[in-house]
Amino acid sequence: MKKEVRKMTESNLIDDCLFCKIIRGEIPSYTVFENDDVKAFLDISQVNEGHVLMVPKKHLVNFFDYEKADAERFLKYIPEIARAIKKSNDKITGMNITSNNGEVAGQVVMHSHIHFIPRWEGDGIKF
Ligand code: 5GP
Repeated sequence: MKKEVRKMTESNLIDDCLFCKIIRGEIPSYTVFENDDVKAFLDISQVNEGHVLMVPKKHLVNFFDYEKADAERFLKYIPEIARAIKKSNDKITGMNITSNNGEVAGQVVMHSHIHFIPRWEGDGIKF
């Protein structure tokens, strides 16, 4: 089975995952925040200027895949990253922080990620 022969790294990153490749630096990204647990980088197709994705440095498919310890380890960085993005641009007065979980919910990349979409008055973004 293909899944069984996937090469695993110490941190559970896998070979054929786009965001694992970004975490490993095999695909370039514009990083805005990084530590041992998570990496946050600009989305390649920005819904609004400054659109960032935060990914855990562990291959979890989506929130359905999280143990409590994963949630405690990775999700605690959300406020810090949101504040850093807001601080980077004076015009940002709000932010949509969302996650698509499962294909039916719009998840395209099957490595858990959180979208940070900066918002300001008159930005013209409609969800
Ligand atoms: P999803 O639809 O799975 O919630 O979001 C996946 C996101 O990944 C999309 O917003 C898409 O623009 C972004 N994305 C896809 N490929 C790349 C890439 O190679 N680099 C970066 N930085 N973002 C990507």
